[in-house]
Amino acid sequence: MDLGIKGKRALVCGASKGLGRACANALAEAGVDLVINSRTEEQLAQAAREIAETYGVSVETVAGDISDDDVRKQAVATAGPVDILVNNAGGPPTGDFRDWDEDVWLKALKSNMLTQIFLIRETVDGMIERKFGRILNITSGAVKAPLAPLGLSNGARTGLTGFVAGLARDVAQHNVTVNNILPGPFETDRLEVTLAGMAKKQGISLEEARERRRSGNPSKRFGRPEEFGAAAAFLASDKAGFITGQNLLLDGGAFPGTL
Ligand code: NAP
Repeated sequence: MDLGIKGKRALVCGASKGLGRACANALAEAGVDLVINSRTEEQLAQAAREIAETYGVSVETVAGDISDDDVRKQAVATAGPVDILVNNAGGPPTGDFRDWDEDVWLKALKSNMLTQIFLIRETVDGMIERKFGRILNITSGAVKAPLAPLGLSNGARTGLTGFVAGLARDVAQHNVTVNNILPGPFETDRLEVTLAGMAKKQGISLEEARERRRSGNPSKRFGRPEEFGAAAAFLASDKAGFITGQNLLLDGGAFPGTL
């Protein structure tokens, strides 16, 4: 399928590896020029080289923590008139809410809610003017099925979800869509961190934790990042202009609800 976005311009945050990288790959495959961001400069540069060589699109980089105001502003300035925004950053730490003071909460809110809102604020009016915009937020299956140790993530990401639910309806008339993609367990470095935490808590080996998580999923496997990227590219496409304000759960069927 021709996604109809060849020559568009995207800013993809948290894009050197994992799900953000998968989104960058899939958009590049569709002919989208990219500005990609992540903290580790060398890995980011390597990702940019690989994407540009593989797909023949232009890839610029802005290295740094996207929740830092200066980095965010630099990313927006480098991206210029952006048509597609993929909001992504590492998830907050897990733990017990009794241990989280105001600073811990503010950091989580900045990384997983406010930065995404500020990036939208700084790009959406251009999209409205150009009558095309696709905003995707990588959130988490935990927005739909929260677990107590993920409290920081649950709180911050649900706040973002509530905010964009209103915004999506406000900008839809301009062919600007806003959707969230909610990953379940995908085979990335982040999953390894989660599994290590699970192994420690349950006093089992990492391999045992992996097996339990895998076999507990209806699909009996983990998601592949390229599956995530393909869904993101479709939602970013000109074919998806009537899909907005949605929360697309990619979890192999783990969430047990009818809707
Ligand atoms: P990942 O494999 O660890 O990759 C994260 C990417 O984001 C890397 O490129 C990382 O590079 C970059 N990054 C992290 N924090 C950043 C920051 N503050 N500013 C800029 N770049 C940053 O993680 P992932 O699995 O792709 O996860 C992506 C998001 O989905 C996370 O929020 C995660 O919590 C969520 N999620 C993932 C899963 C899963 O199973 N994979 C499930 C539920 C939710 P640097 O470290 O160099 O910055």
